[in-house]
Amino acid sequence: MLRKFVIAGFIFTLLLACTPQNPYQDRKQQQQFYVFGTLVAITLWDVPEQQATQAFTEIMHSLQALHKKWHAWDDGSQVVALNQAIAQGQAYTVEDEVLLDIIQRAQDLAKQSDYLFEPAIGQLIALWGFHQDEPQLAEPPATAEIEKLLAAKPSIADLAIDGNLITSSNPAVQLDFGAYAKGYAVDLMVEKLKALGIENAIVNAGGNLKVLGTAGERPWMIGIRHPFPTEKKSVLAAIAVENEVSVVTSGDYERYFEFDGKHYSHVIHPQTGYPTTNIRSVTVVDDSAAFADAAATALMVAGLDKWYEIAKKMGVRYVLIVDDKGKVYLNPAMIDLAKFQKRDLPDSAISQPLQ
Ligand code: ADP
Ligand code: MG
Repeated sequence: MLRKFVIAGFIFTLLLACTPQNPYQDRKQQQQFYVFGTLVAITLWDVPEQQATQAFTEIMHSLQALHKKWHAWDDGSQVVALNQAIAQGQAYTVEDEVLLDIIQRAQDLAKQSDYLFEPAIGQLIALWGFHQDEPQLAEPPATAEIEKLLAAKPSIADLAIDGNLITSSNPAVQLDFGAYAKGYAVDLMVEKLKALGIENAIVNAGGNLKVLGTAGERPWMIGIRHPFPTEKKSVLAAIAVENEVSVVTSGDYERYFEFDGKHYSHVIHPQTGYPTTNIRSVTVVDDSAAFADAAATALMVAGLDKWYEIAKKMGVRYVLIVDDKGKVYLNPAMIDLAKFQKRDLPDSAISQPLQ
């Protein structure tokens, strides 16, 4: 049975400790930089200045290096080198264990998602103009072009992995880890912070966020903002999380282009070849940011008809979806986790338990 209420929102980070008069303010340090095509914010709690500066610098350099290695279209990236080998029908030895792990895990996640999360559709993503920093296609690609790429049926399942050696049975496979790499990198950066002796932090790579420890005596608070914010009402809900929990959001509103009044998102349905339509954003909470990133993208592709089925299949525990009309869908566990300003809003839908 579905209960209904309207909630609308997209997700942002709300740190309660940010309020100006807050006595905890000077216990919090934050640095932001632009990497992975997005704004990355690192927040630390109660860390001595020298250690904080070292952590900021190391995280920034690590993320820059990972971005270079995993880039989907820049020369010099290992993914691009692998893609070139695949296109030429050659086997490729992946020297980097981390990249190998990404490929293997992505293969499992793609399968669990019924291949709605499908990192092998790099050619389609490029055709839609999203293999450039600022997507700016003048008009959608020709149907014949889309059909041609779909007919080749590229899938990450086409890759055979033997030790470090990768071979593809399909030369149309072009890997693009845009839907997974940021979450994966966030998990790695939290490990790095721990190795640097930091116990309380947030790593937020453009909505792919993971917390470590607490904000002093309290959990970290992650906010969900109303999609049509007004001066009085901008925050819809807050999620209190602590100790290595990720809150990841995929949205269709940051990378897209418009043509004839229509919005074309950077998330592409691998079976239709067209951008996803009826979901505005998906938030998934999980221990692993990598998992949550892949799952959020898969649910975006699944759309309003199939998100519940795919979430269940993938083992998602907490999900919150905002559709293009501003209606919100949640599972019961998420309703318990998220603290809403107003619990009984009309016209949203709470699904059956996922687990
Ligand atoms: P964001 O990067 O905004 O968090 P996502 O995690 O959903 O959003 O990643 C979107 C990116 O993933 C796209 O820019 C593209 O590179 C890639 N992508 C698009 N469609 C798919 C898909 N169906 N499966 C896997 N990756 C995809
Ligand atoms: Mg994703």
